[in-house]
This record gives sequence, structure tokens and C-alpha cells, in this order.
Amino acid sequence: MTGNPQSAPFGSILSETMAIAWYRDGAWSPMELCKTAPLQIHPAAHALHYGSACFEGFKAYRHADGSVHVFRLARHVERMRRSAQALILPEPDPALLASMVNSLIDRVRADVPEAPGALYLRPLLFGTMANIGAAATPSNEACLVVLASPVWDYFAGGIRPLKILVEEHAQRCAPHLGMVKTGGNYAAAMGPTLAARKAFGIDQVLFCPGGEVQETGASNFLLIRPGHVLTRSLDSSFLHGVTRDSLLSIARDLGYRIEERVFGVDEMMDWARNGEAALSGTAAVLSGVGTLVRNGSEHKVGDGQVGPETLRLRAALVAVQQGKAPDPHGWLTRV
Ligand SMILES: *Cc1c(COP(=O)(O)O)cnc(C)c1O
Repeated sequence: MTGNPQSAPFGSILSETMAIAWYRDGAWSPMELCKTAPLQIHPAAHALHYGSACFEGFKAYRHADGSVHVFRLARHVERMRRSAQALILPEPDPALLASMVNSLIDRVRADVPEAPGALYLRPLLFGTMANIGAAATPSNEACLVVLASPVWDYFAGGIRPLKILVEEHAQRCAPHLGMVKTGGNYAAAMGPTLAARKAFGIDQVLFCPGGEVQETGASNFLLIRPGHVLTRSLDSSFLHGVTRDSLLSIARDLGYRIEERVFGVDEMMDWARNGEAALSGTAAVLSGVGTLVRNGSEHKVGDGQVGPETLRLRAALVAVQQGKAPDPHGWLTRV
């Protein structure tokens, strides 16, 4: 690995080893650890033309005693299996994917930064069948890779409240693929997000098609008040974040009332007057929203700063991940 995760942008440093397995003739090959390097992919490969690709993202943490622990590995493996199913890709065998992740972490153990850094793991599955006439035919061959990237805490440089555009018309992605972690969904959100960034100087777009609050291009959305969290109930229109699920469990353990239901933009704007809003995801954990931009005008969330409830829930989750608090739900597995 070259570079310093403390100063490099998230995901720009890669470990020198990756794990790889191939699906051919109806079966997965044994996994191999090899040098992180370009792959030979046929230019007619299914994923390049028809978008048959999905990925995962999660972290391994180094605890104070030097031991290394992965956060909610089984959940991420299961979500990848469901993504593969939705895209009609060969499903990665859960034991194979888990062993790829564990073997890779073991091999690059020295790359796992101490807190508040972590090793970000990125499994990727894509269709490799070489056939440019397969628009309506699934790929019968696939490649499964796991990359590792040492990363630092998003917040190490100070906590900055985010500015978010409220988009009440455009959709982030096709509604039936909302819960699938696939590159095509990011491609779909890219245009609207860049246009809004240019027009309003915002960080992210909060997609609220039909006036119903959903999520941003890469994070779930939570409204928070003392003792109370409100977030959209799970459906196929948005990504079921593991961070979202973990934060809701922790908040429930702390005695918060958890409300999961559909809610609209007007209710959110109302809540924002004296409550808090935040984005959740593996990379940034929980990021406070300071400003909502609606119909071209800016509305502060609370006092416009990152709120105390957001900081409290974030700290509680990070403490479990870093081994500084008990892990009552058994979310960490030691490598
Ligand atoms: C990955 C992702 C999230 C966050 O999921 P986590 O499991 O919490 O990292 C949220 N929304 C979208 C669209 C995503 O792709």
C-alpha cells in the first residue's frame, strides 16, 4: 500500500492484495489472493454493456489491543446475495464471500489503521459473459472480487453540517432496484446531484419522489429529536443500510422511540425547525444536516449546526465498532 490514509481521499489507497473468485460452468472457483492489479475482461462482457454489477461496502476496525474486527459481515454478505438475485447474477456463496473477506483482511492485517481509521472492504460482483446480444439474457459467468482500502475518519478534520437539496420530483433510480447496491443507481443519481451542486452549492440531493422522503444518492436519512427517531420504513425503493439498522438498534437500546414510516417533505420541514436531520452510511457513519434547500430557498435545520442527538448516536455506534463499548448484538467478528 502506498499513501497515508489520514491525508488521502476516502477509497483512493488500495491494499496490495485482493481476493478473487470466478463463476463458470455453473460453479464458483476456489478463491485466490492475488496482487491488486488490472483484470483481463472481455470488451463484450455483460456488465460493461448491460450493467450486471453490484457491490458492498463495510469496515474492519483495529481495537486498542491490536485485534481486528469486521462489523456486521453476515449482513453485508446477505445483502450482496440479494443484490445478485435482483440483477440475475450468479449468487456468491455466503461461505465463499465471507472467507474471501476474512482471508484478505488476515493477509493485509498490517494495513488496518488504528482508530479513528478503519479498513474499508469493497466486494464487487459483475457479469463477465462475452455476448453483446444478451440484453435480455442474464450472464452465466461472473467475477467476484474483494478490494481493501485503509481509510480515515470523515470527521477527523472537524464536523461540518451538510447542505442538502430537497428534490420532490426526480427519482434516484428505478423504484424496484432501490434496495439493490448497484452501480447503475449511482449513475442515475449522478446527473441530478451534479446539476444541483452547481446550481445551489449543495453536498447531496435528498430524493423525495412524489413528496415522500426517501434517501440521498448514497446515504439513508434520519430525523432525530431527544428520545425520538423518525425514518422511512423499509420498502424496495431505497437501500436498506446496515448503518441505519445499527443506529436504530442503538437508539432503541438507549430508550429512544423509533418510528419507521412513510413521511412527506412538509413534515420533514416542520421537524427541521427545532429537530435534527442526519445521513447514515458506512463511510461517514452519521452526518448532521445543517441546511435544507427547498424550491430555491434555504432552511436551517435547528440552529444550522450538527445537533447533540446526532453526535450522541454517532459516538455510541463508533464506540461499539472501535471496541470501546460492549457489543450486545454480536455485530463484530474477530479476524
Ligand atoms: C450503501 C448505501 C447506503 C448506506 O448503506 P450502509 O449499509 O449503511 O453503508 C445508503 N444508500 C445507498 C443508496 C447506498 O448505496
